[in-house]
Amino acid sequence: MKTRTKLVHGGTRRSQYNEVSEAIFLTQGFVYESAEAAEARFIQAGPDEFIYARYGNPTVAMFEERIAALEGAEDAFATASGMAAVSGALTSMLRAGDHVVSARALFGSCLYVLEEVLTRFGVEVTFVDGTDLDQWRAAIRPGTKAVFFETVANPTLEVIDIAAVADLAHAVGATVIVDNVFATPVYSDAIAQGADVVVYSATKHIDGQGRCLGGVVLGSREYIRKTLEPYMKHTGGALSPFNAWVMLKGLETIDLRVRAQSASAQAIAEALGGDARLRVIYPGLPDHPQHALAMRQMGQGGTVLALDIAGGQAAAFRFLNALEIVLISNNLGDAKSIVTHPATTTHQRLPAEQKAALGITPGLVRLSVGLEDPEDLLEDLRRALDAAAG
Ligand SMILES: *Cc1c(COP(=O)(O)O)cnc(C)c1O
Repeated sequence: MKTRTKLVHGGTRRSQYNEVSEAIFLTQGFVYESAEAAEARFIQAGPDEFIYARYGNPTVAMFEERIAALEGAEDAFATASGMAAVSGALTSMLRAGDHVVSARALFGSCLYVLEEVLTRFGVEVTFVDGTDLDQWRAAIRPGTKAVFFETVANPTLEVIDIAAVADLAHAVGATVIVDNVFATPVYSDAIAQGADVVVYSATKHIDGQGRCLGGVVLGSREYIRKTLEPYMKHTGGALSPFNAWVMLKGLETIDLRVRAQSASAQAIAEALGGDARLRVIYPGLPDHPQHALAMRQMGQGGTVLALDIAGGQAAAFRFLNALEIVLISNNLGDAKSIVTHPATTTHQRLPAEQKAALGITPGLVRLSVGLEDPEDLLEDLRRALDAAAG
């Protein structure tokens, strides 16, 4: 089956009613025919047998199978949020004394897990500039247990070479964990390019309409069932069956949505690229430092742009406040276009030097391009730029 067919039919399980649309099994538990049957299921549950919704649920299983088919992964485990996926993927495989190498440019909460949580439990974390292979080469050492990075970093849109970092990591037996939110499951081939584990915040493009939190971890059957599942099912980061159903239906349209959003993002980036009142950072533009890599790795620039507005925070705020169609919020991948000012919101807690090192300037605005008509968006953005120049 090709991608779009998998997105519509992958993982479907029908009940005795043969429903067309996937059913929501909004149940925590499952009744056993006998005490012996309960005992047997706790020893080894079969592929279509469930115990408790914290461990698994038929609607959640449909979502896991559909996204695993899309991603080309052997298996998947769905989680309550993207952060439950990121923290579960790391914590389930690490112990005190282990060494992790991570890209420095990360979503704020990912940085918190690596910088504050893992180190508190005795894991050593080395941060590198993810775009500099020499820094990865210097930091990865015999015994390094895992490497972690976002393929396109939030919010600065640095693109990291999955295949090259994976080669360095695999040479010492380290597990490559990729947070693939910005590349999206549509443009990513992270597993084919060398990632061992891929994590998504399903909250973003997979839902795509700003309704539910969710996440998923994908990888080998061995990793998902032997390492991740025992940790997740006992620590409680399970995805709700209702949210799994929203994500499952989101997957049916993700290919169409993300391609349309990326095409609009590219058009907006090109239209604003020459404007002296801002600097447009977008992997789909030839002046992006990793443009060639982005084209090789994703084939597209993606749905998110960063706009560095001349005039710093005051101008950026005037720009945000003048927008009439684009909303000020902090989700991304939504049907509705959204702007965020990372320095004062998602990355607010970072000290000024760290923001500067990451390129999170006072004028930086993250723009997630939605499904509106791109001409309307452009008009809105241009009006706001006039206001910013004020
Ligand atoms: C949003 C996001 C997350 C966290 O996802 P939640 O669903 O909000 O928990 C993790 N990584 C990246 C790159 C994100 O953009």
